[in-house]
Amino acid sequence: MRTPPMRRGAARALSALAASLDPTTDGDQLTGLATRGTLMRHLQRLLERGEHPAILYVDLDDFKLVNDTLGHAAGDELLRHVAGEMARLLGPGDMIARQGGDEFALVLPSARDAGALAHRLRTAITAPVFVRGVQMQVGGSIGIAVAPGDGLDAGSLLEAADGAMYEAKASGRDQIRRAADSVSRDRQRDRAALTLTASLPAAISRDELRLHWQPIVEVDGLTIIGLEALVRWEHPERGLLYPGEFLPFAETSGMIHAVDEWVASAVTRQRVEWRTRGLDPYVGFNLSPQFARLPGSLGPLLERLTSGGLSLERVTVELTESVALREDRRLFSFLHGLADAGVTVSLDDFGRAYSSLDRLRDVPAKWIKLDRAFLDRVQADASATDVLFAILELVQALKLKLVVEGVENPEQLEVLRSHGALTGAQGYLLGRPAPAAALEQRLRESSPSRLQAPGALRLPAEADRSSLQPGQRQRERLGLDRLPLGG
Ligand code: C2E
Ligand code: MG
Ligand code: MG
Repeated sequence: MRTPPMRRGAARALSALAASLDPTTDGDQLTGLATRGTLMRHLQRLLERGEHPAILYVDLDDFKLVNDTLGHAAGDELLRHVAGEMARLLGPGDMIARQGGDEFALVLPSARDAGALAHRLRTAITAPVFVRGVQMQVGGSIGIAVAPGDGLDAGSLLEAADGAMYEAKASGRDQIRRAADSVSRDRQRDRAALTLTASLPAAISRDELRLHWQPIVEVDGLTIIGLEALVRWEHPERGLLYPGEFLPFAETSGMIHAVDEWVASAVTRQRVEWRTRGLDPYVGFNLSPQFARLPGSLGPLLERLTSGGLSLERVTVELTESVALREDRRLFSFLHGLADAGVTVSLDDFGRAYSSLDRLRDVPAKWIKLDRAFLDRVQADASATDVLFAILELVQALKLKLVVEGVENPEQLEVLRSHGALTGAQGYLLGRPAPAAALEQRLRESSPSRLQAPGALRLPAEADRSSLQPGQRQRERLGLDRLPLGG
């Protein structure tokens, strides 16, 4: 796993800040260790002398638990203890600093002993200790970076060590990682993904791509108001692959056009098939920004979508917000061309990119699909509901329709229903992406003639449910028991 950009950026900014501080004020008040600023200057001096220093980045595992359960005073005591234990292991010329919180960094003038020291540090950190009469044991995740391979200046070395620590943490407690290993693993992964992508054209001609369809439902009655087509690759050796595994490289290599064309044709084929079975659902599919920006791509796309005499009235094209709202003449004319032809334009992953909302007025979008991060936050933090509702108001004021993505549990659905003005929702709770055949029954139940019967998919009135478990009662009240979930 790579270090998220924010974290790297933040590390660099903070280290630059610390390095500029007055050295006379240095010294961590809690532990008595050096501060980040002192450590960074020490590291920089070693580099300037032509040494090959190593930096170890240490982060305690589960320290937050100590703070939360035993209080901050106990947490402080534990930090002082661990700091002392680590300091005891230092040799001449080594330096340790507290980076802040439960993070520490050590600099060694030579990389030679870094691995052995990391193991001794881990043993020292994980030894059981009594704090306020309670026996505790924390773990430590350690990242190691060495000059010059992992960085030529103090900032980039710290960043590399921090990244390696982050990867250590991601792979479980008490792990040690070398920055070089993380980089080479990244490279290996990239190479494997590239090889996979290179075989995409052959896969298309061997007919290995599939569409799965995920329902978009109306939040009150849970009837299907649309389906989103999501591409999958049925790989002969690796099994079913998801877009995240083969689209990113396809996008950078230009192979995405072939995928987008395949998807448009497959959507049309499926619509024709549905039509012969008396079904005509609203369908949406995703297009890559690369496709949208390609001169001359619109005409052939519209032709594909209307072959077999289909109308465009029930077709939605989803384009990710970060791109669709960019000032981009080609994209702009593509989107207007789509809208003029009668296709509904939908802005996908809305809110992920912090685009300028001003641009919303210029783009002919009718639908907004709110990124699932918003719902994730609602669970963790009640004030996030206010943000969600504010977005709902905004979208309404702009006369747009909104689909909230990523509804995974009944609590989230209830929050959405409590607003009362939401158009649609999508998520594992309401239906996982599945092959068309698996959705046919639900589609029939949601087709317009059925919907005319009031409450077609609604629950029977709450009868005697006192024997049901609370969770079951909630599922029933929300109408979820009527959904054939899974797939
Ligand atoms: P997207 O268009 O935002 O699609 C929604 C993604 O969220 C899908 O992932 C879907 O399976 C997943 N999802 C749906 N409900 C939930 C939920 O409740 N929880 C969670 N955690 N995830 C949920 P998928 O199929 O892996 O697709 C990922 C992305 O790949 C899509 O995001 C879209 O940007 C892209 N993509 C998918 N199909 C195509 C395609 O045919 N062409 C192009 N160009 N891009 C595609
Ligand atoms: Mg989408
Ligand atoms: Mg989306």
